[in-house]
Amino acid sequence: MKEKELIQIVEDDISVKKLLEITCKEYGFKHISCENNSQALKLFLTNNPDLILVDLGLPDGDGKEFIAQVREISQTPIIVISARHDEKEIIDSLDAGADDYIKKPFSVNELLARVRVNLRRNNHKETMSNKISCGEIELDFESRDIIFKNELLKLTPIEYELLKYFLLNANKTLTHKQILKEVWGVAYQNEMQYLRTYINTLRKKIEKNSTRPTYIKTESCIGYRFCCSSKEEE
Ligand code: CA
Repeated sequence: MKEKELIQIVEDDISVKKLLEITCKEYGFKHISCENNSQALKLFLTNNPDLILVDLGLPDGDGKEFIAQVREISQTPIIVISARHDEKEIIDSLDAGADDYIKKPFSVNELLARVRVNLRRNNHKETMSNKISCGEIELDFESRDIIFKNELLKLTPIEYELLKYFLLNANKTLTHKQILKEVWGVAYQNEMQYLRTYINTLRKKIEKNSTRPTYIKTESCIGYRFCCSSKEEE
C-alpha cells in the first residue's frame, strides 16, 4: 500500500484549521499544522511535507513570506487559502511561487480536488520523459512535434511555446504576468493583449468549442489554467 501523503496546514483561524485537519484525516492524508509563519518554516524543514495549504493573513506576517522561503529550497506544491476579496493577494502569492489557490469559503470537494491535482503534478515531474501528454494532446520535446487527435498539429513558434508552458504546468493557476514572462520574456510581462490574442488562436486549434474551452480555462482577473484530467492514473 502507498504511504499516506503528508499535508502541512498553516492557518490561524481555528475553525478553518480544524476543518482542514478533519478533512485530511477523513480522506486519508496525514497532516501537521501551525498558526504562524515562524512555526511554518520550522515544521516544513523538519517534516518535509508533500503539500502545503497556507492562509495569507497570519498573526506574525504574510503567508507569502513563507511561500517565498519554501520556493527558495523546494518545489513542494503550495495551495493558498484566501479570503474572497483579495484578488491582488492571490496574484502576488502565485507570483511568489504558490501553485494554486482556493477562495474562502471553500467546499471540501473543491479542496480535495485541488489537493489531488497538485500532488499528482508533483509525482509526474519525477518521472518526466521526453514526451508529455494531456488528453488528446501529446508533445515531443526532441522533435518539437505536437500530436493532436492522432494528427500533427501545426502551430506558430509562439503558440508552441505557449502550449509547452501550459503542458509543463498543467492544472496550475498561472498569472498573466507569469505566462508572458516565461513565454515572451521579461520585457513583455505587461503585454496582456499579446497573451489574449495567442490564447484565442490556440483555443481555436485545440478546443472543440473555443468559447467554452475545456483545456485552457480562464481564471477571471488572474490568468489561465490548463486543465488536464489524468488518464495515466487508471
Ligand atoms: Ca488568517
